[in-house]
Amino acid sequence: MPQATVAIVGRPNVGKSTLFNRLVGKRVALVDDRPGVTRDRREGEGELLGLQFRVMDTAGFEDEDPKSLPGRMRAQTEAAVREADVALFLIDAREGLTSMDEEIGRWLRSEDTPVIVAANKAEGRGGEAGRLEAYKLGLGDPFAISAEHGEGLVDLFEALRPHIEREEFAETEEEDPDGGPLKLAIVGRPNAGKSTLVNKMLGEERMITGPEAGITRDSISIEWLWNDPATTEERAVRLIDTAGLRKRAKVEDKLEKLSVMDTKRAIDFAEVVVLLLDATRGLEVQDLKIASQVIDEGRALVIAMNKWDVAEGASALFNGVKAALEEGLSQLKGVPLLTVSAITGKGIDQLLGAAFDVREQWSRRIGTGELNRWFERAVETNPPPAPGGKRIKLRYITQVKTRPPSFVIFGSRVDQLPTSYERYLLNSMRRDLGLGPVPLRLSMRAQKNPYVDQTK
Ligand code: GDP
Repeated sequence: MPQATVAIVGRPNVGKSTLFNRLVGKRVALVDDRPGVTRDRREGEGELLGLQFRVMDTAGFEDEDPKSLPGRMRAQTEAAVREADVALFLIDAREGLTSMDEEIGRWLRSEDTPVIVAANKAEGRGGEAGRLEAYKLGLGDPFAISAEHGEGLVDLFEALRPHIEREEFAETEEEDPDGGPLKLAIVGRPNAGKSTLVNKMLGEERMITGPEAGITRDSISIEWLWNDPATTEERAVRLIDTAGLRKRAKVEDKLEKLSVMDTKRAIDFAEVVVLLLDATRGLEVQDLKIASQVIDEGRALVIAMNKWDVAEGASALFNGVKAALEEGLSQLKGVPLLTVSAITGKGIDQLLGAAFDVREQWSRRIGTGELNRWFERAVETNPPPAPGGKRIKLRYITQVKTRPPSFVIFGSRVDQLPTSYERYLLNSMRRDLGLGPVPLRLSMRAQKNPYVDQTK
């Protein structure tokens, strides 16, 4: 599990080391904490009410000539803050905000690392004025702590937790920037024209690797370079050939029901699934079932109406199928619908272009800042309900995965959140963050109350 790193920053004597010692306790591992060795940074395994993280203390240069401090401080602190997932900025609540605090604050605002502000030495009620003054830093809500007396630790816990949990959830997945060959599967009812389409695609393209033993028994994948007319670039496509799509299927096979196994195998393999419809037959119930299966498995879906060369009443047919899809696939609106002719080849380039486009959306990662700005807006515009008079609190969101884009929302009482509210969030996210018509995953995580935990 990736571990989050917290950098404690602040001017000399605000209590950084005291706080560091409190968080790290005896677990501090000081490699070169020998007299005479100038340590600019201490690191250790921190723990606070069950949260675990790595802590960096940027103290250690405090015995130096104060005149040299700002420069040294900047270099040391900069390195630590850039490395950290969150900067814990300490000020001295009794002394109030000094010009050096303000200088550090200005610099922290220009950095990308999130910052939380704690007003230290605020034991008892002392330091409330100093805490309020710290609002001037423009770095969010300062909270009061006393590192020495162990006060305000729950507030510290609450402030740190989002940053630490977000990091724990972040997947260390390899993300190939170009995505590699597009893994494509073509599914549909018998006689929709799948074999014809595949033959046409392959017949017009240069095959770069011959049929190779593939993925599962009875299926092979074929890779070739598609010449994208939109960019004039060659793009690699790897197609799964389920049960010999390229062979002319026997007549008896055609009478059988669509092989459930074939569809399953294709979905397992593919990034993007093309559901091929037969324009001469329109949309049938089984097509909707296959489409739902693709979406439920979290794959990107494109629907193509084949035999468009012989379609009658083309525009009425298209609109009718479009409307039936919107109604039949209530879980995902706006799935791309295209028309092709496997016989003439018309529309095949558009189909492949659409497949690459949805894969891009399916692989998209939303920046943490953008995601949380959207989230705050969405929750403010339409706050979650308050069943039994108690409001459900949604605190923050993090994207844990791509392909398909998957998100976790942390909050309290989330088990009572109605699915209609989840749908609202998903729709709003899809619209505002340009995620497109790909399946999204959203799950909720309840935050534990640290007080409750402690009394157990
Ligand atoms: P599969 O079972 O989905 O693989 O379907 P086939 O590729 O075997 O095609 C079934 C029938 O539809 C064959 O007779 C094809 O010639 C015909 N067909 C396939 N694509 C087209 C098309 O685009 N236009 C027309 N007019 N006929 C097509």
